[in-house]
Amino acid sequence: MSDLSMLINGLKVTAEKNATFERRNPLDGTVATRAPAASPADAVMAVEAAAEAFKTWSETGPSLRRALLLKAADQLEARTPQFIEAVSAETGATGMWGGFNVFLAAGMLREAAALTTQIVGEVIPSDVPGSLAMGVRQPAGVVLGIAPWNAPVILGVRAIATPLACGNTVILKGSENCPRTHQLIIEALQEAGFPPGVVNYITNAPADAGAVVEAIVAHPAVRRVNFTGSTRVGRLIAMTCAKYLKPAVLELGGKAPLLVLDDADLDDAVNGAAFGCFANSGQICMSTERLIVDEKVADEFVKKFATKARALPLGDPRKPEPVVLGSVIGMSTVEHCNALIDDALAKGAKLVCGGKADSTLMPATLLDHVTPAMRIYREETFGPVKAIVRVRNTEEAIACANDNEYGLSAAVFGRDVARAMNVARRIDSGICHVNGPTVHDEAQMPFGGVKGSGFGRFGGRAGVHEFTELRWVTVQTTPRQYPF
Ligand code: NAD
Repeated sequence: MSDLSMLINGLKVTAEKNATFERRNPLDGTVATRAPAASPADAVMAVEAAAEAFKTWSETGPSLRRALLLKAADQLEARTPQFIEAVSAETGATGMWGGFNVFLAAGMLREAAALTTQIVGEVIPSDVPGSLAMGVRQPAGVVLGIAPWNAPVILGVRAIATPLACGNTVILKGSENCPRTHQLIIEALQEAGFPPGVVNYITNAPADAGAVVEAIVAHPAVRRVNFTGSTRVGRLIAMTCAKYLKPAVLELGGKAPLLVLDDADLDDAVNGAAFGCFANSGQICMSTERLIVDEKVADEFVKKFATKARALPLGDPRKPEPVVLGSVIGMSTVEHCNALIDDALAKGAKLVCGGKADSTLMPATLLDHVTPAMRIYREETFGPVKAIVRVRNTEEAIACANDNEYGLSAAVFGRDVARAMNVARRIDSGICHVNGPTVHDEAQMPFGGVKGSGFGRFGGRAGVHEFTELRWVTVQTTPRQYPF
C-alpha cells in the first residue's frame, strides 16, 4: 500500500484537513493506495498556482518545452516497473497492458514535443489596403484534464501532453480508481523539470468529484477542459462547461462494431476481433463490442473465433505467468455483464463460449444470434462479453453498425478493399479501420468520436487546434483610409 500526495505549485501537498480515500485491489480487496481527498478549496489552489505559472510558461519558446517533454518521456519509461505494479494493484490489469500503456504514453509525450514547433498560424488576404492580417495560435490558459482508469497511463498523459506543448499550464484530476498510477505520471514530469505550477495534480474521493470539478471549471483562469470517461459523466461535465462557457473536448464511451463482410479473410478477421474484443478484458473505449457478420460466413467465423477466445489465458495479473485477461475493475462490471448475458439468453441468444462470472476474473464470452431486442445489442459492456449479430448483406451490416448511440471506433474486414472502403465511409464513427482492429491508437492521429462518443479530437495538429486560441491579428502597414 502506498500513501500519496497531490502536486500544487511544485509542492507535494495533502488535502485540506488531511482527508484521504482508499483504492482497493479489485481481486482481493486489499488496500492498494491511500490518496488525498481534495476539497473544492484545494482544487482552487491548484488553479491559482497554474494561473500564476501561465504568465511565464506561455512565454517560453518551443525548444524549452520540447526538451522538457522529451525528458518526461524518458522519465516515464524509466518508471515502467512501478507503473506495471501500480496498474495491476489498482485496476487489476495485466503487466502486458501496463507496459503497453507506458510505451504509448511515452510516444505521446514525444509527439507533443514535436508539436511545439508545429503551432503555426497563417497570413490571410485582406481587402483593406496595407493590412497584414494573420491567424495566430496562442496558448489558451489553464487546462483541466480529467482521465479515467482503464488505459491509465495513456489517458492521463494524453489529458496534459498537448496542452503543455501549446504553452498552457495544466491540472490533472486523477481517477479515484488509480490515483497512484496517475501520480507516477506527475512524478515523471516533475523529475523532467517543469517549473512549479506548470503541472498540478489533484485527487478526490469519488463522492466529491462533481464539486471539485465544478470549482475548477468555474474559475476564470481555466480556459479548456478535457474529459475522458463515460457518456453519462461526459454529459454532466458538458453541462458544467456550458454553465461557465468553457470549451471542452469529450472522449466518451463506445460500442465499436467490427463488420465481417462475405469476402473477408476470416483468419485475419478473427485475429483482429480477438485483439479488439479482449485486450484489457474489453475495458477500452475502442473495444470491439459488436461483431456484425454476414450470414454467408457467420458459422465459419464464429467457430474459428470461439476456438481462439477459449484459449486466451485468464488469471491474477500479479502472478508471474503472463495472462491476456486479468481482473476487471470491480464487481459492478461483473454484475453488469452477467445481467446482459441473462437478458440475451432469455431472449434467444446462444452462448458460444465463456459465460457468467462470480469474481472479477471474467472469461472471454461470446453471444451469438444477438438481436435489437437484447440489451447487449445497444449497451456498452466494458468487459469481455461480446455480441455477434448476423446480417443478410452489406447494406444490413451498415444499418446495424449505425443503429447505436455511440460512434467512436469501427472496423470493416473484406478482401475487396474498394468495397470495404465504401462501407467504412458510411459508418458514423470518428475512427474506422479497414482490415484492422477497432483498438488502435497512435499519438499523431486525430482521435475522437461522434454522437454519444463525444466531440473534439486529441492527437497531432488536431490537438493543437483544441488547446490553443486562434486569434485574428492585423498590422496596418500603410495609412488607412476611413469613410469619415
Ligand atoms: P466515469 O465517467 O465513471 O469516470 C471518469 C471520471 O469522471 C472520474 O475522474 C470521476 O472523478 C469523474 N466524475 C464522476 N462523476 C463526476 C461528476 N458528477 N462530475 C464531474 N466529474 C465526475 O468513467 P470510467 O468508468 O472511469 O471510465 C470508463 C468509461 O470511459 C467507458 O464508458 C469508456 O468507454 C470511456 N472511455 C472513453 C475513452 C475515449 O477516448 N473516448 C477512453 C477511455 C475510456
